[in-house]
Amino acid sequence: MRCVHCGSPVIGTFVQYSPGNLRLRKCPKCGCVADEYVECEPIIVFVDIVLHKPEAYRHLFFNSNALSSKVVVMAVLLLVVLEACLYDYFSTERAAAISYRSTKMLAKAAVTFSSYITGIWIMHRLFTKKRSSSTSLMDILTAITSSSYFKLFIFAMMIWDFSPHIALVIEVLVLISNGVALQVVLNTSANISMVLVAASAAPTFFWKLFLYYSLWANPQPQL
Ligand SMILES: [Zn+2]
Repeated sequence: MRCVHCGSPVIGTFVQYSPGNLRLRKCPKCGCVADEYVECEPIIVFVDIVLHKPEAYRHLFFNSNALSSKVVVMAVLLLVVLEACLYDYFSTERAAAISYRSTKMLAKAAVTFSSYITGIWIMHRLFTKKRSSSTSLMDILTAITSSSYFKLFIFAMMIWDFSPHIALVIEVLVLISNGVALQVVLNTSANISMVLVAASAAPTFFWKLFLYYSLWANPQPQL
């Protein structure tokens, strides 16, 4: 477990004397309450995550059992499917067979997601090795999947007709959230984590920019 304010390891976040009677521990390094989120409802943690507070991410990653490896794998699959739906939404091959389109878009989404994660992992190993050598690929996957909740808005894009501006706003919000989550798991500065995210996402981001706006300029007939 860790202090949500400074990230230092702590022996526990609270002492329970009896059911419903507990006392929060203080962090020996910074002197703050180690984790005040243990007394909060999950919705409070979620709101603070949406507000990009690193403390909420530290609680989620280090002091709660919410994210098992099974949940992370399911989240990866969901993200790939959502990304494939977005590509299909902006696809110029709407007249092709659904099986062909689905396979192609899923493959594109899987390659895009893999290259993004691999890019972060390689740059982390090359440039931030001394800061967090114990960080595993699973930690990075956990950070990226748990902070990509804005992609759920893609469901709304499937129902209502949105412009490419909305897709780009979602992309940017996801990248900012990814940066905050990476800052926590890599135990590094916000600047370094944002550089890692930006450099890893840049190739696919500009490809998506071209894809969205080229379709917007030449709309395809709806089937
Ligand atoms: Zn502390």
